[in-house]
Amino acid sequence: MAGATQDFDAVVIGAGFSGIYMLKSLRDKLGLKVRVYEAGDSVGGTWYWNRYPGARCDSDSYIYCYTWDKQLLQEWEWSERYPEQPEILRYLEHVAQRHDLKRDMVFNTRVTGAEFDEASNLWNVHTDKGDTVTARYLIAAVGSLSETNMPPFKGLEKFKGKWYHTSRFPHTGVDFTAKRVGVVGTGATAVQAIPEIAQQAKQLVVFQRTANYCVPARNGKVDPELAKARKADYDGIVKRIRESFFGQEHYFIPKSALEVSREEREQELDKRWDAGGFAFWLANYQDMFFNQKANDVVADYLKRKIRKTVKDPAVAEKLTPKGYAYGTKRQPLDTNYFETFNKDNVVLVDAKTDGPIEEITEKGIRAGGKEYELDIIVFATGFDAMTGPLKALHLKGRGGRTLDEHWVDGPHTYLGISIAGFPNLFTITGPQSPSVLSNMPVSIEQHVDWITDCIENMRKSGKTTIEPTPQAQEQWVKHVNEIVNMTLMTGANSWYMSANIPGKPRAFLPYLGPEGVGGYRKKCDEVAAKGYEGFELA
Ligand code: NAP
Repeated sequence: MAGATQDFDAVVIGAGFSGIYMLKSLRDKLGLKVRVYEAGDSVGGTWYWNRYPGARCDSDSYIYCYTWDKQLLQEWEWSERYPEQPEILRYLEHVAQRHDLKRDMVFNTRVTGAEFDEASNLWNVHTDKGDTVTARYLIAAVGSLSETNMPPFKGLEKFKGKWYHTSRFPHTGVDFTAKRVGVVGTGATAVQAIPEIAQQAKQLVVFQRTANYCVPARNGKVDPELAKARKADYDGIVKRIRESFFGQEHYFIPKSALEVSREEREQELDKRWDAGGFAFWLANYQDMFFNQKANDVVADYLKRKIRKTVKDPAVAEKLTPKGYAYGTKRQPLDTNYFETFNKDNVVLVDAKTDGPIEEITEKGIRAGGKEYELDIIVFATGFDAMTGPLKALHLKGRGGRTLDEHWVDGPHTYLGISIAGFPNLFTITGPQSPSVLSNMPVSIEQHVDWITDCIENMRKSGKTTIEPTPQAQEQWVKHVNEIVNMTLMTGANSWYMSANIPGKPRAFLPYLGPEGVGGYRKKCDEVAAKGYEGFELA
């Protein structure tokens, strides 16, 4: 395809938090011709699709937003500590309109494949509408948790009731009133949805495979005085979250959980428990993620809370996590989750003690030899995280190689933003970057800014392609794995470890750097400052 005409400078796939800012940055800062393709009928990404009852963000609203629009930081008023899904969607719609972004977005259109043409050095991008366009740069802004995991339960096609996956929930909502409802899964999504559904349903049966450690969210209206003080300090907040470990204003206690007295430890943990939110997980004792004994004492605190809250000791026992270290699976934030199991209309079916799900029947779910009759089943079974959304793009790099071929034993990337053999492809919050282990907007903005600078630099220096060298990439993969191998994270069957999808190669998906988000940012900036060290530019 030598001499092919170039339709766009860049194609961006996805119009969520990442795609919106990527378009803004490339179009309005660099003046590029950009097209965004989005499968949904509007902007929002995660917040467009995940409309299940109780869906809200687990990061505090004052940091779950863009920081590049300083005026909007001052103008926008979040109503609650954790923004609810409709409010975040309203925010993203507002940003898209305010910056006139929709004119370069094509909705209801899924990218079905793209191949790099080695003669023209352009990407050919195909959509489900039958179009093919060419672009110099291809930017995957597809999100980390967008490829639904719907386990192939035997008999699902026989079920006479209605069923939904939380990540593809009907836009019209679902009325659970007077219904017998089953929820499959007890991850962060289910922990938000279960208390809400239990309030409406006649009966709720929760099918649990692994019990989860949960900490109260303690949501509430935003105190206007606090909001005002934060607005006055936004420059400081932005600096702090960018330099922090998790993109949040949370800092480890610089002590071992084992070096302090029980009394002191209980006081520290009480403070975090009472404050609610991610502080308990991300601002805990510094050895909690490394030392099993330190982890045990923190986990014990949470187990005691479950026993105190859940009235039936047998149910409390089933809800008590076992067999993995606290914090190595994503910490759900809850509002009356454990309390919900005290309700007369709620039944817990635990795979380990009652028996696993065997099949879906015409009337409901059979688990442990017993059939539970249901009108509605809600699958809160999560995602094929991080690598799933990228593989679903069916990309072909140099020599026609696919990501499936390239990633046989798990992801191989350089800095989580680029892949050897896939020139001019950038992956926003891709595998082996901090991504899901951070407050997402912080990591998204960092990647978008880095990509924008990189493209600007290439244009100024007359380069047409950039791609990491296989050596730099393998060094990064080694580094990612060396770091995580020092922690307890590898012991859990979590989606971080790719363990939720049968057959997915066991590999840690994000990057848990020694200095977190702040250290990773420094590393990316150093790479750029050294003339894109580890990359080949042609
Ligand atoms: P998840 O954490 O992967 O949880 C899925 C649940 O389904 C788990 O309890 C899992 O059990 C169960 N499950 C999966 N396959 C199953 C099978 N074949 N049979 C029985 N049970 C099965 O998914 P999620 O709850 O949707 O959350 C995913 C991520 O999305 C979160 O970790 C978080 O990062 C993000 N999220 C964010 C927010 C927020 O900030 N607002 C809210 C919700 C979710 P196992 O534990 O045994 O695998």
